[in-house]
Amino acid sequence: MRAGVFRPDVTNVEPEQFERRLVGKKLRGTGRRGKITLLDFGDVVGVIHFLISGRVLRLRAWTEPDRINTAVLEFEGGLVLAFTRLWLGYFHLYEPGRVAEHPLISRLGPDPFSDDFTPEYLAKALNRKASVKGLLLDQSIIAGLGNIYVDEVLFAACVHPARKANTLSPGEIEAIHAATRDILGRAIELRGTTFDSYHDAFGETGKFQHQLKVFTRAGEPCPRCGAEIVKSRVAGRGTYTCPACQGAG
Ligand SMILES: [Zn+2]
Repeated sequence: MRAGVFRPDVTNVEPEQFERRLVGKKLRGTGRRGKITLLDFGDVVGVIHFLISGRVLRLRAWTEPDRINTAVLEFEGGLVLAFTRLWLGYFHLYEPGRVAEHPLISRLGPDPFSDDFTPEYLAKALNRKASVKGLLLDQSIIAGLGNIYVDEVLFAACVHPARKANTLSPGEIEAIHAATRDILGRAIELRGTTFDSYHDAFGETGKFQHQLKVFTRAGEPCPRCGAEIVKSRVAGRGTYTCPACQGAG
């Protein structure tokens, strides 16, 4: 493999070292921790975090990294992937045994599909006065839930995002737990949610946007009861709810 990086602030090593540590390596596997993607190259692991609008593009041939294609990898067999718009994210290199020490990974709460994510865990984590939406967005409580999915989870669970989390009943916590696994599981299967121009490296868009029940659907009828979906602001984020199904918070 051949590799290059354009912006030094995108990675945690010198650009020459980035090249040197990846050259000749093979991709042995991929993984995910919360919203962080892991690329396993044997004695070095790529820790990649995309923020808004970061993406992977497939290029026709090797191109020197530049302002747009911030990091470029060419695999054996000729596949060239460019990690674009990385000024909003990063591509760090870590030793395999030290990935858990990465500042963002070490603070992550359990993955929704791990055995540690139980209704009991969630009840304890949510036993605070803050809004349930704010807490579900907190990556140290659950790894991997973003704004779109929190709104969909809380709609499925019939809980208003602005509810004080410590007022939730055990039944509501169980409903949030089940909806988190269900909705994230289906979203991953459908390759995520695509708005505007996002495509993955193979030109595919996600398909989960067709399954969204409330997110970006202000003014449309609630698919459960027919009341009008409204947009508000909770935890500093645009928030979509059905006032009839989810109450007023
Ligand atoms: Zn409704």
